[in-house]
Amino acid sequence: MKVLAINAGSSSLKFMLLAMPSEEVLTSGIVERIGSSVGIFTIKVKGVKLTKEAAIATHKEAVEMLLVSLIENKIIAKVEEIEGVGHRVVQGGEAFKTSVVIDDQVVKVIEDLSDLAPLHNPANLIGINTFRNLLKNVINVAVFDNAFHSTMQPETYLYGTPYQWYRQYKVRKYGFHGTSHQYVSQRASQLLNKKNSKIIVCHLGNGASIAAIKNGQSIDTSMGLTPLEGIPMGTRSGSIDAGIIEYIANKENLSIKAVTDILNKKSGYLGISEYSNDARDIEAKIKQGDPLAKLAFDIQTKRIADYIGAYYLQLGGLDALCFTAGIGENSALIRKGVLNRLKVLKVKWDEDLNSQTRGQETLISTPDSKVKVWVIPTNEEVMIARDVYSLAQKS
Ligand code: AMP
Repeated sequence: MKVLAINAGSSSLKFMLLAMPSEEVLTSGIVERIGSSVGIFTIKVKGVKLTKEAAIATHKEAVEMLLVSLIENKIIAKVEEIEGVGHRVVQGGEAFKTSVVIDDQVVKVIEDLSDLAPLHNPANLIGINTFRNLLKNVINVAVFDNAFHSTMQPETYLYGTPYQWYRQYKVRKYGFHGTSHQYVSQRASQLLNKKNSKIIVCHLGNGASIAAIKNGQSIDTSMGLTPLEGIPMGTRSGSIDAGIIEYIANKENLSIKAVTDILNKKSGYLGISEYSNDARDIEAKIKQGDPLAKLAFDIQTKRIADYIGAYYLQLGGLDALCFTAGIGENSALIRKGVLNRLKVLKVKWDEDLNSQTRGQETLISTPDSKVKVWVIPTNEEVMIARDVYSLAQKS
């Protein structure tokens, strides 16, 4: 069965085509700048990236371009070979605890949840609607970013805010990056080969979150009602004193929305370094001796270590600490910055192995370390394809 895993943003569409159940990746790519006069279509064919620039007005045009390209590049002979499509959906609220086959009712619930994720759910829905209209008779599955965290307990997911906010408006911690945390923790659990496991996953990309996973279930995670909570990220501030919002709104004569926008888009690495949101740029500046880049990095590693300490207590110990996503998989500097703060937990690692590890699964802790430290490349697409395959078998 050939399955497309789709991640639709407001102006982009990431795709991967997999053969299931073998999980062979047939191709992957991205359509960017949808809606602008110069769209960019990139597809990997036999390991080579092919890029085409063209006006791509809508997501429908993007998907049509993708289908034509799959045939032109002989990845499939005809569109009917695609038998399932899995869609990443950021916010499933409390409605979905697992992935589901999409029907009109599911679409309606995702629409209703847009209030909680106005930047993400509407974009995810555009992807869903486009595929449902273009590929009739194909199973479409929604895979929710927060579903893996639905095992958190009320004492963890509720804030110290009026209970009525939860009752009436569903204000609570939901958590995100669930598909990634699940994939990486499952892999770590396999590698540990232990029945009861205590695992912390640090998903460090432009967006970043930490999760504590006990015996395969998420018990806590750093993102909250929205992806803004937690550790500082590429452009997000992470957790702050909520009092800052009114204070800055008054000082700079800004609306709450404008301040929130700054917290989402102009903070984190970008805001502190006053230079870039990209970890590679921050590392390059640190090497040149830039104090603000160093500070951006230190603030982040300090906060990551704080979460690890808190989750260590919650888990009642720790078997494995895992680094994943763009920064976690590739940046030896960030891993070192975090690990240096964990010595009290008797975490020991091999400096050389850490510096050499880039994007491949590697155990970087030493045999005498109390905690195993792994770099595990994430694979959200394969998780999406697995859910599509398994739901297709049942329907
Ligand atoms: P993601 O959101 O998972 O795609 O991760 C994006 C982040 O990964 C960006 O901040 C990149 O700078 C960072 N990244 C990618 N490759 C490297 C690398 N070789 N060294 C440091 N950071 C990297």
